[in-house]
Amino acid sequence: MTDRLTSHDPRTGLVIDSVDVTPPEELPAIVERSRKAFAGWSALTHDERRRHLKDWKQFILAHGEEIAQLIRSEAGKPLTEAYGNDVLTTLTVLDHYVRLAEKYLRPRKGNSWPFLTVRGWTEYHPRGVAGVIGPWNYPFFLPMIPIATALAAGCSVVFKPSELTPLTGRWIGESAAAAGLPADLVQVIQGGGEVGAALVSSGVDVVSFTGSTKVGRMVAVEAAKNLTPVVLELGGKDAMVVLEDADLKRAAGGAVFGAMVNAGQACISVERLYVVQSVYDRFLDHLSAAFDGVSPGSGDGKDIGPMISPRQIEVVESHVADALAKGAKVLKGGHRVDRKGGVFFEPTLLVDVDHSMLVMQEETFGPVLAIMAVRDEETALAAANDCGYGLHGSVWTTDDKRGARFASQMRTGTVAVNDVAVNFITPNLAFGGVGESGIGSNFGPDGIKSYCYPKSITSSRLRWPTTRLLGAWYPRRRPMAYWKALAKVLFRW
Ligand code: NDP
Repeated sequence: MTDRLTSHDPRTGLVIDSVDVTPPEELPAIVERSRKAFAGWSALTHDERRRHLKDWKQFILAHGEEIAQLIRSEAGKPLTEAYGNDVLTTLTVLDHYVRLAEKYLRPRKGNSWPFLTVRGWTEYHPRGVAGVIGPWNYPFFLPMIPIATALAAGCSVVFKPSELTPLTGRWIGESAAAAGLPADLVQVIQGGGEVGAALVSSGVDVVSFTGSTKVGRMVAVEAAKNLTPVVLELGGKDAMVVLEDADLKRAAGGAVFGAMVNAGQACISVERLYVVQSVYDRFLDHLSAAFDGVSPGSGDGKDIGPMISPRQIEVVESHVADALAKGAKVLKGGHRVDRKGGVFFEPTLLVDVDHSMLVMQEETFGPVLAIMAVRDEETALAAANDCGYGLHGSVWTTDDKRGARFASQMRTGTVAVNDVAVNFITPNLAFGGVGESGIGSNFGPDGIKSYCYPKSITSSRLRWPTTRLLGAWYPRRRPMAYWKALAKVLFRW
């Protein structure tokens, strides 16, 4: 008998529905079907693929509220947040690649200097079957980034959603079919980590994984066994830096939004806040007021929904307990709240923290913001960069040039000056992490090229092949003096 995977509403703990688990031994047949779908899809012109993706975009637009409702019940977030941060963002990425995939993948002419007798160009060919593994925190948007990108590149997709959000995953597959995408082009498989692991080693041609650093490492090791290329979008521990010339009230609002969005369960949440000493007290007043303005709960007009699962809330509690044991103080919140079976955590503000604490080093992934005073800009930069993760960060200053300079020196894949999390809605700019935050990136030309292999083609401008012209062919008659003279002529300038 096939196992069932049950989806629960984190607001109430009640069962919503269940799906069949995909037996890992079915993966070879699924990948085989995907490969057939790939053959047809990759043979289409960009225009034909564009039409299909546009239809899917229109379908999602027409059914936006339906999917937002489903996300709300599976992930617990307020409806408007589900619509804004999962549906609208997905439309942004789909629209981006509908418009620009062809341009990004146009063959690129190569300059063959100094061997000008060679004409050359690089083409971008789809890799084949893309295995996509997604997390639960943005169960629609995050998998739809690689799915839309891989399809626009000409790949087919096998997607495994998180076991906590299988219904949203199912909706992705069903909506692709309903929008008229070819059969088996987007297949959804269901199950826990073992199904994800089976997908990684199933012979797919590229793997896109979005999730924790711990599992991302395991995925990289498995993928390496088949030399399968991977895109890894992993955890974060984002720093926000408030310099002394910042608009403090605005920065405080940004900090609260950045830390509490999706109940802090966002890879690009603000988790560490560094404020230059001279404005620390004034900033704290603004921050306190901004904190008091948010309203926990997931009903209409509420801002911060529940945590996804009891396991996640335990991580948050352990980080808060560790910080308190090492001398931190709770200024706001600090506790779980049980509401009608759902598990919520109070919006929490910690002060007197330092870098010996988990809350300043490990991903907390909850509505907890830890704030630390720093002497000056230089100390702020050192503190922000003192972290293994490097996903996103922000700097707040009224001096744009200073902000840009500071941002350039942060060791992260993306930085926002005077904003937070905005880089997730700018699909023309690469998005990815460094260090423990991942490998490769999404969005823009970099993102789509992850699903392609570059093929460079050369063609001689002369009847004589360049390698022969140079004297490289056998029998090798040119003396050493010739090669040295050639090197001098070509490279002495
Ligand atoms: P996990 O790493 O726990 O899981 C991610 C996915 O991997 C799930 O579908 C999971 O399945 C699956 N999985 C688990 N074990 C394996 C395995 N051995 N091989 C292959 N796949 C496996 O992450 P979460 O779902 O908890 O998501 C939260 C994490 O994602 C946070 O660390 C967050 O920072 C990160 N993230 C990163 C983003 C980025 O863009 N950089 C964006 C958003 C989130 P199952 O759930 O069924 O166990």
